[in-house]
Amino acid sequence: MILKQPAFQAYKGIHIAGIEGKRFDIEMRDGRFTLVVEAGPDREALERTDVPEVVGQDTSHPEASPQKLWISPGIIDLHTHLAWTDFDHDDQLARDGREVEKMQAEALAATLRTGVTTARDAGGLPPETIRLLVQHYQQPLRVETSSAMLGAADAKGTRHLEKRLAEVYATGAGWVKIMATGGLGAPAEKVIEPNFSEEEFAFIVRHAHEHGKKVLVHTWGGVTIDWSAQAGVASFEHGMFLTRDQAGRLAEAGVAYVPTASIYQIAADPKGVLGLPPVISERAARAADAHAAAIGYAREAGVRLGFGTDYATPALHGYNLQELDTLIGYGLSRAAAWRSATEDAAVILGKGHELGRIAEGYLADAVIYTADPHQARNADELRGSIAAVITAAKESDLI
Ligand SMILES: [Zn+2]
Repeated sequence: MILKQPAFQAYKGIHIAGIEGKRFDIEMRDGRFTLVVEAGPDREALERTDVPEVVGQDTSHPEASPQKLWISPGIIDLHTHLAWTDFDHDDQLARDGREVEKMQAEALAATLRTGVTTARDAGGLPPETIRLLVQHYQQPLRVETSSAMLGAADAKGTRHLEKRLAEVYATGAGWVKIMATGGLGAPAEKVIEPNFSEEEFAFIVRHAHEHGKKVLVHTWGGVTIDWSAQAGVASFEHGMFLTRDQAGRLAEAGVAYVPTASIYQIAADPKGVLGLPPVISERAARAADAHAAAIGYAREAGVRLGFGTDYATPALHGYNLQELDTLIGYGLSRAAAWRSATEDAAVILGKGHELGRIAEGYLADAVIYTADPHQARNADELRGSIAAVITAAKESDLI
């Protein structure tokens, strides 16, 4: 269940995910945590009965039943495509406009139900569509947008790029997305070739920064990772052919890495939900194999890792928590995987001072669980333990 913008919500004796052996009294008022303290004098009584008490305006929801509860910050997915309805864009173009709109609203709803309260859309979703989905369909997801992506077709010099960037800014997007290399559509021997010249790449980043926009870079590897470090972008995405040397330079430059690891495992399975042709699933398998080393180099070097799914179809929206399983499978501790989806993701968004933690003064986006989320065996079990998702933002904050 989604608790939208509760004016007041409180939990007594609740566990904060990742903090062992302590319980807390937590209050949220008008979208912020106003009280987060270790449970006080009645703590012994609570431990004896093991019953956290819920007080607040809504007493009808499941937390009111006597059981142990856990709270985590709302999950932040740094790489979604909420506007896309099909793997192949031509299939989306063949759909009726109203049908597409309803599918987009369902993508937001499914994303929220799984505990993701903030998303950075990595291309395809203009702020205008978010306005419609928030207002007309009442979906209170925080979404940062990048509108149209700049890719190979835009490698026509800085004059052309200036025009394209002005179009992106005019939509109101806060991010610029650079498609710096190919992806699953490119053959293995060409996939790390840059789409832009070094001059064009540097121009885009400089121009974006001068206009107060942040930059995320799609790159599978090669020289565009070095350009990303030099230009000081916020994050680079996928990056499966990252080298050990590059990881060191990225850590120094403070550029974050969003591997979007699970989508390649899903795409690699010819019988999986994407059901891709063998030539594509073989490329995905090669990418997934490479991710193990890339994520290892990033961890060793101390590159900040961010949680992102790259989910873009109805079969995937709502299954975002699978990325936690994949990151843990590639060697992250549970605590590190969760950090990538909360605190560190907030830092990558430039919101580390107010998002991604259960702390007084922070935005009260949260997920309530009936079992310890850090102990969940997998994403299915974790999703099944969600009792409520709390979104703090008012409609005016979201549009
Ligand atoms: Zn993407």
